[in-house]
Amino acid sequence: MPNLPKEKDCCGCAACVDSCPKKAISLKESKNGYFFPFVNEDLCINCKLCEKNCHILHQDELKRNDLAYEKPYAAWTLDDELIKHSASGGIFAQIAKDFLQNGGFVYGAALQDDSTVKHIEISSVEELRKLQNSKYQQSNASGIYTQVKKRLTEGYKVLFSGVPCQAGALYTFLHYNEALLKNLFVLEIVCHGVPTNHLSKLALKFTGAKKILKYRTKSKGWLEGNRITYEMPDGSILECTKRRKDFLFRSYLTMSNIRENCYTCKYARIDRVSDLTLCDFWEVNQKKFNHRDGISLVLVNSARGRTLFVDNPHIYKEQVSWEESIPQNQNLYMPTNRQLFKGCFKISKIMNYPDWLCKVIFQNGFENKYINKIFFILQSLFTYPLKKKQKKEQARKAHETLKMLKDFQ
Ligand SMILES: Cc1cc2nc3c(=O)[nH]c(=O)nc-3n(C[C@H](O)[C@H](O)[C@H](O)COP(=O)(O)OP(=O)(O)OC[C@H]3O[C@@H](n4cnc5c(N)ncnc54)[C@H](O)[C@@H]3O)c2cc1C
Repeated sequence: MPNLPKEKDCCGCAACVDSCPKKAISLKESKNGYFFPFVNEDLCINCKLCEKNCHILHQDELKRNDLAYEKPYAAWTLDDELIKHSASGGIFAQIAKDFLQNGGFVYGAALQDDSTVKHIEISSVEELRKLQNSKYQQSNASGIYTQVKKRLTEGYKVLFSGVPCQAGALYTFLHYNEALLKNLFVLEIVCHGVPTNHLSKLALKFTGAKKILKYRTKSKGWLEGNRITYEMPDGSILECTKRRKDFLFRSYLTMSNIRENCYTCKYARIDRVSDLTLCDFWEVNQKKFNHRDGISLVLVNSARGRTLFVDNPHIYKEQVSWEESIPQNQNLYMPTNRQLFKGCFKISKIMNYPDWLCKVIFQNGFENKYINKIFFILQSLFTYPLKKKQKKEQARKAHETLKMLKDFQ
């Protein structure tokens, strides 16, 4: 039997699934709603290819930052239609559009009709909308690494996008084979962790919605964009406009339901693995750029990242200092903080409650203004000492990273 990473270290990237010549490995949801590989012992021939292709087991072989800490950019696409449907500055969509118009294949995460998220391949600009916008759910990437390799072998240009562990998984899967890599461009989005898949199922149960349409919307501008939009059974649209009504987003932002390995993520550091790194530009001084539709922060990590982004005439860009961009984006220099109530919030148990009880909990609990306030005060009281300690550690790490960047320049 292969010796794959333990549950606490596995990121559920599915590269092991694609590595198995006997199809003995499949990605399944654990009882807590996280993806893990399951090995069928009857089919396994113990070839160890899955171990060889596992980036968690081979972190030291990953290459990082060719360009040695080029100063980051504040940026957004000049295409109004593209930025409207993106979570941030629409940089992914702009780069992907140009790529598709030149005959390349693009890969990324797409919401499915059953509100799960899956990595897919697209080959036309008409399909681009499927990959736009953040989906705060783990994307099932089974099969995608094999497909990328096939396209590269056929000589096509490929743009792969995903969270950093999926980018690391792809490079390890391809073993940095230069012949294949010459046509590969990788774009990662900064990630603060993927939550349990149960969260979205529970949100559908609570709201009675048919499916999730969007995780972020710009109807009230980018800065107010953390609102889920659902499609209801009668075809109407429900946009959660009040934070207290938005169970899914609020639960996600508490960070208590993300995968265990996300708290020790090896990719949450300034040394990045991909050609480009994208995140929201939560600038220290929110007044410097006044762009209501969204501003991205872009890290250019390699020469091919440069050709995609710096030379792109459809993107507005301006270099910014590390000081004004790094401290606000924790996952650029350290993993997400562990939560005090991790594991206490038994989503998997609530999942099994009857529908009427779920509605009572939701309407009398989550939607109730007063219960919300009491819950918030109690939670703040209990978590204050830990939060204070974590903030101090975060400030120390940010300072240390900034100092390293300054010394380097
Ligand atoms: C789980 C998750 C956590 C994030 N955490 C942060 C954070 O802490 N700080 C921050 O500044 N930004 C974070 N982001 C990224 C941010 O929300 C924007 O996606 C990013 O700034 C790119 O914006 P855009 O407008 O260029 O592209 P958009 O159109 O908004 O995003 C599309 C891109 O995101 C990818 N994508 C979307 N959902 C997923 C998914 N579930 N898994 C893999 N890839 C996905 C698509 O493949 C595509 O490449 C996170 C995104 C996700 C999905």
